Formats: sequence, C-alpha cells, structure tokens
Amino acid sequence: MGELGFKPYRAEQVSRWLYEKGVVDFDEMTNLSKDDRQVLADHVTLPRFELVSEQVAEDGTRKFLFRLPDGETIETVWLPEERRATLCISTQAGCAMACGFCLTARGGLRRNLEVWEIVEQVLEVRRRTDRPLTNVVMMGMGEPLANLDAVIPALERLVEQKGIALAPRRVTVSTVGLVPQMAELGRRAPYVNLAVSMGAATDEKRIELVPPAKKWPLDALMTACRSYPLGPRQKIFFEYILIAGVNDSPAQAKALVKRLHGVRCKVNLMAYNPAPGLPYQRPERATVLAFQQILLDAGIATFVRKSRGQDILAACGQLRRQEGETAPLTQLDEAAP
Ligand code: SF4
Repeated sequence: MGELGFKPYRAEQVSRWLYEKGVVDFDEMTNLSKDDRQVLADHVTLPRFELVSEQVAEDGTRKFLFRLPDGETIETVWLPEERRATLCISTQAGCAMACGFCLTARGGLRRNLEVWEIVEQVLEVRRRTDRPLTNVVMMGMGEPLANLDAVIPALERLVEQKGIALAPRRVTVSTVGLVPQMAELGRRAPYVNLAVSMGAATDEKRIELVPPAKKWPLDALMTACRSYPLGPRQKIFFEYILIAGVNDSPAQAKALVKRLHGVRCKVNLMAYNPAPGLPYQRPERATVLAFQQILLDAGIATFVRKSRGQDILAACGQLRRQEGETAPLTQLDEAAP
C-alpha cells in the first residue's frame, strides 16, 4: 500500500475489508474513493480458490476440497459444535512425513502452501458458513513445522486485530515432532497452542507409524516439550490416535504416562478412522476407555475426542478420485482443543 502511495490508515481500512468482512473485490470497499479502488485493482490481485467439492456429514461437519491457482488441491474441514466452530486447515499440498496411518502421506509432498493460501482457507470457509469461527487448528494436509516460513506470517494474520482477530489461545499448530522447528515455533509464535501428534509411546512403535521419529526419538521429543515456552495457564496438547492392536495396549498407555511425567499437558485420544487402502483398524470403545483410565489414574488430563463426520470420513480419499484427482486426501481426525 505504501509503495502505491497510500497512507497507513488506508492499509488498515483495506485490511479490515479483507480480513474482517472477507470481501473479494476492491469495488466492495466503499470507504475508499473510486480512484483509490481503481489504483488497487490495477496493481493488486485478490486470488481465490476454486471449490472442487464439498461433503456435509450428518453431524454438520463440512469437508471442502479447494483447487489452488496452479491446480494443486487441498482439504479444509469445518467442525461446528454447540458453542464453537473449529476449522482444520492445511499447510502443505500433500506431505513428506510418510505417517503409516495417513492417506495424504501416500501422495508425498506436492509443495508448501504460501501464506495467502493458508489464510484464504479461513476466509473462504467463513464466507460459506453461517456461524462465527472460534478456533483454527493446523492439522489438515501437511506438517506445519515443515513450512514455518509461511506458517508464522499466516499465524500473525489469524491473530492480529487488524487481521482475522482470533484469540491466540484458540489457534493450534500440530506437529509430528520436528524437534528443531518446535523450538523455532516457540521463539517466533509462542502465543499459539502446540499440539504434538504422538503416534505411539515407545520408539519402536512410533517409528513404524511416524517415520520422522527415527531422527527425533522420544527422548529428544520430550526434552523439546519440557523446554517449550508455555504461558502460565498454557499446556501442550498430545494427540494420540488409537489404532487397534498397534498402539492401544495398556503397556503403551503406561509408557505414555512415563513419557509425559513433568510435562504440563492435556491428552486427546482419538479412535482411528479406517481409511481405504490402509491396513489399520479402529479399536473397540472399551479399549479406548481402558487406555484413558490408565492416564487418568496417573493424574493426566485425558479426553476422548468424538469422531466427527464419520459418514464423510468413510469416503475420505474417494472424494478426490470422484473428482478426477490423482493424489489421495488426508486422513481426517477430529480437530483438537
Ligand atoms: S499425519 Fe500429518 S504429518 Fe503425518 S503424513 Fe499425514 S499429513 Fe503428514
């Protein structure tokens, strides 16, 4: 805006139109003169996604497949609840982390998303839904910490007052445990929540499910968690997807208790949603509850997350095929906190 000769207050006005009101055209910015709008239209583009498809689950969960300007596709999931609405957004097209239980992993990494592509998911879904968005989780396609140079400025847009103005504690960044980048996130964006996707509580099992664990075993991961800068009432969220016969045993629960000792945290357990073409199964409800009880008995705040949108999750990966896409979609678990 400065380069185009505008005063700072004009930039703020434009920012409010874009992020608060979500307009898609300079002509809608009615507190700018016609000439100013023309200057902007001549020099700036407001790129948008194309909606490829949308699925609506019985519980109101909506899954969007967006096409980016270069043809890549990403998935964004809106999860309405009684008192909040959470958006699960993608940070990469595809993913290089190769987690064994995840369909996105199968297509590999296509590319990092740009800052605007991360933020636009929020704006685009806000335009298409009728309830205020309260929470954003970066748990869609991709490993957010592998794209920190775009993720950090996107987080700033999400929380700043002249941006989307979400409460920072309602924004969560998830990682499979990229240790050096966790420290960097703590330095550059300590105001958001950190969620760690555990996979399993022993290195042997964890490496099987989450290959980056080979490079950063649990000792290194937990050291990074213990030194993560937390505010006075802040906790690290540990996300643990329970897979039948793989990581859902009492022994794994006890190992998890040991690993979490001394870490200010909350654990979210999620029963795995079977995905087409992957060998893993969902555990019985009793197994999930028994796992939870072991953690509760050790004094660890542990919640079993409801599976959301299961009827559309069942079709996960098929959506893209239906739409003629070649790469599979991400496995969608319920968004965290
Ligand atoms: S679970 Fe997340 S980090 Fe792992 S491959 Fe899938 S998208 Fe990537």
